[in-house]
Amino acid sequence: MNAGTEQLDPRMIAPLPAARGQALVEILAQAECPALTARRARRAELSGAAHDPIVWSRAAGVNVWDTDGNRYLDLSAGFGAAAVGHGAPAVVQAVQRQTEQLMHALGDVHPSETKVALLARLAQLAPFEDARVMLGLSGADAVTAALKTAALHTRRPGVLAFRGGYHGLEYGPLAACGYSEPFRAPFTAQLNPHVVFAPYPRAGMPVDAAISAVELAWGTRDDIGAVLIEPVLGRGGAVAPPAGFLAALCALCDRRAALLIADEVLTGLGRCGALLRSVHDGAHPHLICLGKALGAGLPVSACLGQAEVMAAWGDPAGEALHTGTFFGNPLGCAAALAALELIESQRLWERAERVGAWFRRHLAQQIGARVVDVRGAGLLVGIELGSGAQTLALVRSLLERGYIVVPGGVDGRVLSLTPPLVIEQARLEGFSSALAELLA
Ligand code: PMP
Repeated sequence: MNAGTEQLDPRMIAPLPAARGQALVEILAQAECPALTARRARRAELSGAAHDPIVWSRAAGVNVWDTDGNRYLDLSAGFGAAAVGHGAPAVVQAVQRQTEQLMHALGDVHPSETKVALLARLAQLAPFEDARVMLGLSGADAVTAALKTAALHTRRPGVLAFRGGYHGLEYGPLAACGYSEPFRAPFTAQLNPHVVFAPYPRAGMPVDAAISAVELAWGTRDDIGAVLIEPVLGRGGAVAPPAGFLAALCALCDRRAALLIADEVLTGLGRCGALLRSVHDGAHPHLICLGKALGAGLPVSACLGQAEVMAAWGDPAGEALHTGTFFGNPLGCAAALAALELIESQRLWERAERVGAWFRRHLAQQIGARVVDVRGAGLLVGIELGSGAQTLALVRSLLERGYIVVPGGVDGRVLSLTPPLVIEQARLEGFSSALAELLA
């Protein structure tokens, strides 16, 4: 769908582990934070399969090439960021133009023209009559901005978050990370202590029961100023809540005078079949976080808020209480403007809905009997397997056949698929045949 970007099936010319990649992995092990080497070793031990990475050298559309010339189909879209495809020509041109003209401005003092244009565009996209926007570099930045906004506006420090939820690993969002206790444990003493977790409801659960569970977690606490939720659990395993839950949660927030923060870093901008999944599901969040797809591969994120809520930032002492050297960097803003143009002009959310629904049906037919579950929303698709070890082994076998997928789910039993929204059905058919063969 990207003009001039052909979509190709995988072609492995150098079986893994391939020589050039392996040499680079050795350098990586010497130079990189040991957490990643340790994770590779643990995954290898758990699954009985190697877990050395391939080293990416080039990408275009839905394809990635490694340093040994192997061609892959990227079903992760680089953690969802390459929603319009890798190196979408319109994005590359916009960034090239911006690079030649102005790479960096003076952020919150003297902004670039491009930053002004992006702020205006995002304010227009926001589902509020009057919106204000804060820019950041990562999804975690956007969530941090939303959490701070809620604390300022409500003067209550507490957050109700959901088990299985993932919002990034900076200190603010980390405190609300329901995805993995070990992520939080070493830093507990440095985290917001006013956080409670409610269970994330699965499709099929009655909405009343799901809301009762939230109320139970909330209890009689009066310190909760924000409810933070992913409209569909992403890293937590592609879990969509029951229809009507987000709207009911929103009403509960209104009753208890808390702000609803929709973390649409993964679900937003088309991935789950709507420009904003929470709004599509009937909620009217006070704050919305965007990231990943927004920059089409460049680091840019945004927190959109109702003007009345954002007014809390109007510090009478006149300080810019939340800022950063690179917030609103012109290159990221240029990429975001081009990405939004592609997403909106091609109505990629409609494509995600249609192709995603077909893909889940197709997977269910091909492999439904051999897996625990196939689920998701739009092109956020999860295939739940019997064990974490089986998932890791499959991730590796798929990589060896040229398919890039990542493991997900709170217990690591989900193959997590977030392909570019422009992916052709034929490519997904190829993947599902390869997976069926491996599962046979
Ligand atoms: N929120 C959600 C829903 C996410 O999926 C992620 C990233 N996986 C984040 C926040 C954090 O984004 P980043 O890694 O860019 O900080």
